[in-house]
Amino acid sequence: MSSWEAGEETPFDKLHEECGVFAIYGHQEAANLAYLGLFALQHRGQESAGIATGDGRKIHSIRQMGHVADIFTPDVLNQLPGDHAIGHTRYSTSGDTVLRNAQPLSVTCSKGQVAVAHNGNLTNAIELRRELEEDGSIFQSTSDTEVVLHLVARSRERTLAGALRDALLQIEGAFSLVFLAEDRVIVARDPHGFRPLAMGQLEVSGGPTATVFASETCAFDLIGATYVGDVKPGEMVIIGPEGMTREFYTTPDTPAHCSFEHVYFSRPDSIVFGKTVAESRERMGRRLALEHPVEADVVVPVPDSGVSAAIGYSAESGIPYRQALIRNHYVGRTFIEPSQAIRDFGVKLKLNPVRHLLEGKRVVLVDDSIVRGTTSRKIVRMVRNAGAREVHLRISCPPTISPCYYGVDTPSQNELIAANHSIKEIEEFVEADSLAYLSLDGLRDSVRDQDRHFCYACYTGRYPTLVQIDEIVLAKTGCC
Ligand code: AMP
Ligand code: SF4
Repeated sequence: MSSWEAGEETPFDKLHEECGVFAIYGHQEAANLAYLGLFALQHRGQESAGIATGDGRKIHSIRQMGHVADIFTPDVLNQLPGDHAIGHTRYSTSGDTVLRNAQPLSVTCSKGQVAVAHNGNLTNAIELRRELEEDGSIFQSTSDTEVVLHLVARSRERTLAGALRDALLQIEGAFSLVFLAEDRVIVARDPHGFRPLAMGQLEVSGGPTATVFASETCAFDLIGATYVGDVKPGEMVIIGPEGMTREFYTTPDTPAHCSFEHVYFSRPDSIVFGKTVAESRERMGRRLALEHPVEADVVVPVPDSGVSAAIGYSAESGIPYRQALIRNHYVGRTFIEPSQAIRDFGVKLKLNPVRHLLEGKRVVLVDDSIVRGTTSRKIVRMVRNAGAREVHLRISCPPTISPCYYGVDTPSQNELIAANHSIKEIEEFVEADSLAYLSLDGLRDSVRDQDRHFCYACYTGRYPTLVQIDEIVLAKTGCC
């Protein structure tokens, strides 16, 4: 049990970070390929990015706030020599967003130089950090990932792989981790496999094949690598001068792959947990049309998150698909809002309706999820103001009623509209003529979860592991 008191600030800026990770071993252009891989994973985190490379003797690392393509200019990439690399993109919507939390984080210890990049969230990081601090460790960041480095540095094991094993056995929660040492890459996944970690191979002219790892396979597509499978839950893969070894550092648990990766987070062109995301989303839309049909003239997606599901809804219902909301993709973090007050400016910046396609129409509006409900309300209003006669909102997952403790940024339960209001009340709040969500069975079916290997905790409130709620209560509320 944590000794943190209720209401006391935790040492971590936030416990729900969404991220993308990448690793490569055995390619002279490791930094350039890591850059391209991270560019393909940019949607998983836009706040900061970093690459660390190893040249056999030394680790070189550059991390900065901002987007991958802005940080890694040719001059910057030239400062990253070596044939193996790891990379990270980080997203954070609140709290401490300073550079010291950008990854890869690195440390020099008795096992040499080690850098780490992490996707996920450690559910016992608060207690571990308190114990480490009481024992004299000094932390540089407010990121839970730094705990892993301290555990590695303090391990009595003599080899890096042994120390990592030691550390991995002490941490709990969701982690897809990529480590870099002077001469090797080591990757590992938590025993439930919450977050994805795909493995691929890249042909190298005149040499042995390079090995790559990434949160999503879209990173492999860009660099021309072939997807060969996933790092398994509870598995550690070590690649160094002596070759590759794969081992289970612990007994794998029942898998609990994040279903939200398929609902929203991953790119539709990725294969995640061995399944194509676009196919899952189209199935969600088809199933939604069967579960919640409505008489309408057009099916309109909220771009980009609702596109594949809307295509499915349209195909199943026979109602024509229309791209009647157009998204501006170039809204950067540095956009300066004019001082003059403009109503609903935030949503207008991103989306603009095509009046010609909406005027006088009964519209089925398809989006992936409702969190607080505020965006949905603005979009429904936007569609109605563009002349739609009726707006029927269809959501391609069940109501989000519980926060995620495994690395997806969700607000606390009291801010989740579906945790506190009935579907009828939400329908009134978002000002839709009707509102309906996909059922849990529908979601299971859409992600082809025949074996019950997915997590649905944000839709059910049943968590597959112990979780720390509000930093003090430990609870295991059963499997999904
Ligand atoms: P809201 O106004 O809070 O209901 O926002 C819902 C919108 O946020 C939906 O269109 C989703 O596509 C998007 N969304 C849902 N979950 C997340 C997340 N974890 N991070 C960023 N955007 C999200
Ligand atoms: Fe994914 Fe939801 Fe489970 Fe978090 S709680 S891992 S978002 S399914």
